[in-house]
Amino acid sequence: MASSERPTTKIVVSVVSTLIGAAVIYFASSWWSPVQKALSWVFLATWHFLVSTRSIPGWLLLIFCLATLVCLFQFIAAARRPTGPNWRQYTQDLFFDIMWRWSYFGGEIQRPVPFCRHCDIQLVPQLDTEYGPWGRREVTHFICDHCHRTRIKLDEPLEHIENKVIRQVHRKLRNNEWIKSIPNSTNDA
Ligand SMILES: [Zn+2]
Repeated sequence: MASSERPTTKIVVSVVSTLIGAAVIYFASSWWSPVQKALSWVFLATWHFLVSTRSIPGWLLLIFCLATLVCLFQFIAAARRPTGPNWRQYTQDLFFDIMWRWSYFGGEIQRPVPFCRHCDIQLVPQLDTEYGPWGRREVTHFICDHCHRTRIKLDEPLEHIENKVIRQVHRKLRNNEWIKSIPNSTNDA
């Protein structure tokens, strides 16, 4: 059976709906008169409220109430309105020809993770040491083992590269360049 509803439940629902329907039809005929009375009462009460004399006139109170309601609705509308891209959406960017992704924790950028810019597979940085006239230095290789199109060697240890990426992200956040780096950004929406 496609539905998980049991037959007894369906029968109970049908019986209850029928009873409610019958009750509605029975009472509907006697509804109009009390509703009419209630409406006239509300109208008269409103009229008395508006014209009665007190320290603040009723019509002024009504204007205050309406103004408050308008302000309240405007406040709610402003709170619900989408306000363009948020900086927390900026979680990826291309630095050193490598796609970096990161997350935020308490406003701080977490350790950025490198991805191949061509096939989007996560790269595993390979640390190496090179010797030359300059002496010994640490280098980091970023090699894509999926599409093999990314083969980048940066002459720095990984933590220096990550530090550079984080500082670039900070820079773009400060000068609002990050907005251009958001995928499918609809800035002028
Ligand atoms: Zn690749």
